[in-house]
Amino acid sequence: MSFSDLGLRAELLRAVDEQGYTTPTPIQLKAIPAVLQGGDLLASAQTGTGKTAGFTLPLLQRLADGPRPKPRQIRALVLTPTRELAAQIGENVTGYGRYLKLRSHVIFGGVGQQPQVDAIRGGLDILVATPGRLLDLHQQKHVDLSQVETLVLDEADRMLDMGFIHDIKKILRVLPQQRQNLLFSATFSDEIQRLAGGLLNNPAMIEV
Ligand code: AMP
Repeated sequence: MSFSDLGLRAELLRAVDEQGYTTPTPIQLKAIPAVLQGGDLLASAQTGTGKTAGFTLPLLQRLADGPRPKPRQIRALVLTPTRELAAQIGENVTGYGRYLKLRSHVIFGGVGQQPQVDAIRGGLDILVATPGRLLDLHQQKHVDLSQVETLVLDEADRMLDMGFIHDIKKILRVLPQQRQNLLFSATFSDEIQRLAGGLLNNPAMIEV
């Protein structure tokens, strides 16, 4: 199985090829078709399995394919626990999306918010964020989440360990009801299962 067998468009295949990847990893083989279909996903995957490309590639494809009711509205939101992970995901989005005309930005706490506010104001299709800073900016009305079509919770177990559950719940309340939800977690505690149960509709399940 190659990346071209997974139904990805030429712009993405070209970017993947330039990364030097020849074969999709097991999680990519399963996640890419599942996400492209538009349904919810529950994936158990550790860092290092290639999970970031597993959600980033189909997410980019769906954004590039989909209608744009309002251009440069945030249609994909990726929540992740740390600034390092946020930055890494941001690099993946930029790298794989280099031949698509989509705009993305990464926001996290511990740094000044003005450059982040300016980037959001300029218009984005994809926002990668840590929950606390996103909630701050939303409460200050700097970010509009009313057009989000796909939500990714990356490393959900670590977000809960870091105490982000209340922030996540507040963010969930301001998202459109109708959306695609992707949840990635290395472990499945009762708390994660409760979160998944409340969030996901008939999800595809992937374990690697
Ligand atoms: P991740 O689990 O998403 O953090 O990815 C782990 C590492 O694997 C990253 O350095 C990626 O660049 C790399 N990677 C992701 N997908 C592939 C692939 N299909 N072939 C080779 N390397 C990959």
